[in-house]
Amino acid sequence: MIHINNLQKQFGQTHVLRGISCDISKKEVISIIGPSGSGKSTFLRCINSLEEISSGEITVNGFNVHDPKTNLNKLRETVGMVFQRFNLFPHMSVLDNLILAPMDVKKISKASAITKAESLLNKVGLIDKIDAYPSQLSGGQQQRVAIARALMMDPEVMLFDEPTSALDPELVGEVLAVMKSLAREGMTMIVVTHEMGFAREMSNRVIFIDQGIIQEEGPPEQIFNNPQNERTKLFLSKVL
Ligand code: ADP
Ligand code: MG
Repeated sequence: MIHINNLQKQFGQTHVLRGISCDISKKEVISIIGPSGSGKSTFLRCINSLEEISSGEITVNGFNVHDPKTNLNKLRETVGMVFQRFNLFPHMSVLDNLILAPMDVKKISKASAITKAESLLNKVGLIDKIDAYPSQLSGGQQQRVAIARALMMDPEVMLFDEPTSALDPELVGEVLAVMKSLAREGMTMIVVTHEMGFAREMSNRVIFIDQGIIQEEGPPEQIFNNPQNERTKLFLSKVL
């Protein structure tokens, strides 16, 4: 579903991604781990074309991401993204946050958008907050709304960039629970995370990025129990 070949990204003189290649299949759950500043967010942002790339190739579900002829709106319908900070529109109710893009971009009717929003809010356990405003919700609730909002577009793949890093510890579990249920339903997911428990339990593959390259990747048992790369070992010794 996703092919990435020799992806390079520079910001001026800073060479952030230095040749990343990987293929991701439908229904795979990939966790990306690595030190701060190693290029993880940049990598995710390249996948849905929030960043230009310097060289290399990314295709997502048949879209050549950085081909100027690619319809970026169509691409972004395919790729849902949830960020560290809750990016809800503060002046809109939960319901309006959910139905805006599907009505605007996908031209679905208001009635069917509302039906869909209700069903997704049920799924993330927040149907009772349908008329609330973001400021009335906890961080964990806002993040669950953000996930529901991304799902409104029926994405083929979901990208998560440290979705629980900005949360108080007691709110992390409720967000991870929603992500786990998505994974169990077969959603293709790429998750940048510091939650090693999630990475170990839920991912098919763990990718360790450091200094802008994939230093090591493999099934969670291998990465966590028997890492081969010195950098992986050092990183894990600090976070586990
Ligand atoms: P991570 O998510 O792994 O912490 P990032 O992808 O956010 O790392 O950042 C990797 C490097 O790229 C950092 O050195 C960061 O300062 C740099 N960087 C990220 N975005 C920009 C930008 N828009 N302009 C310049 N440098 C950037
Ligand atoms: Mg980051």
